[in-house]
Amino acid sequence: MKTRLLSPTDAHLDLCAEALERGELVAIPTETVYGLAANAFNEEACRNIFAVKGRPLGDPLILHLAENYSVTEIARETDLFNRLRKVFWPGPVTFVLEKSPRIAPLLTAGLSSVAIRCPAHPVTKGLLRRCPFPVAAPSANPFGYISPTTAQHVEASLGGKLPYILDGGSAEVGLESTILDVRDPHKIRILRYGSIDLTTLQKTAGDVTLELPRERPHEDPADNSPREAPGTLWRHYSPRKPLHLFATRKQLEEILPTPKKYSFLFHTRPSEDFFSGETNAQTTFHWLSENGDQEEMGRNLYACLRTLDASSSDEIWAETIPPGPLSKALNDRLVRAAAK
Ligand code: AMP
Ligand code: MG
Repeated sequence: MKTRLLSPTDAHLDLCAEALERGELVAIPTETVYGLAANAFNEEACRNIFAVKGRPLGDPLILHLAENYSVTEIARETDLFNRLRKVFWPGPVTFVLEKSPRIAPLLTAGLSSVAIRCPAHPVTKGLLRRCPFPVAAPSANPFGYISPTTAQHVEASLGGKLPYILDGGSAEVGLESTILDVRDPHKIRILRYGSIDLTTLQKTAGDVTLELPRERPHEDPADNSPREAPGTLWRHYSPRKPLHLFATRKQLEEILPTPKKYSFLFHTRPSEDFFSGETNAQTTFHWLSENGDQEEMGRNLYACLRTLDASSSDEIWAETIPPGPLSKALNDRLVRAAAK
């Protein structure tokens, strides 16, 4: 199949909306990462998402909605959800609610709940406005690989497997959405860390407990049965090359004498005197931000990992992120990406 990369003109948005309506797949830009989209009311189209990504059927999809889409069509609204959506939608937050019978079990891995999000990216807002149906869209990458934050990333790993990629530039956040289960009126279960600030979440939610994600889910990747917090496989977002994490730069000095080609990925640009120290001539140095801005780290993480994965180095060594606004989400992705 030939894959066309489309600029986000009105005519191309019409074309993509029609393709989705017919049951074809379209890769779409969002502020988090690029999504592989299908009409959520077309089960065959959604089945194709799993096939193209090589995604296990036990990993449910997130449904993307236009701002004015009536949520009651697909899920049972709660007061807590309505309070939070006013603040966080459109934006990088996914809510889990009880699903309506209208949603096929295939999309939710057989669960009675459904995950929904209203993205803020202007191109995808324009596309969703043209779609009288929700759009199911997981990240547009082969299952388990580094998530895509540009149209070119999607083309590089899924080109030939879908008809259209809508190019909306680089993702502004670059990290997957925060996922919040808001079915219980007294408790928000955070299923995945994302870019939203938990203090703002607590303030908006009021007198409600925040339950943090489990440190390390013990899950068997071969197990396709529904999970309590499904899809949160431990190894994820991973390059093909070995990826190791380090917390102190001293650890690098210990590995440097080994005759390997290393790529070192720092969270922040090291000072000049760092480079004047002893290094292995084959080593290359990279960083996620110039001066410690964690939003910049978020925007750059996946693109950097992809570049290093495609480079000639043998191993990637990435520095863990110090405490800050996005450190929980960034370290979550790094630890999973490095997991064996
Ligand atoms: P992504 O692959 O980034 O689109 O994220 C999809 C993730 O959303 C899944 O892997 C699950 O972790 C989560 N998810 C989707 N639907 C549900 C649901 N009904 N209940 C809990 N988590 C869900
Ligand atoms: Mg994904």
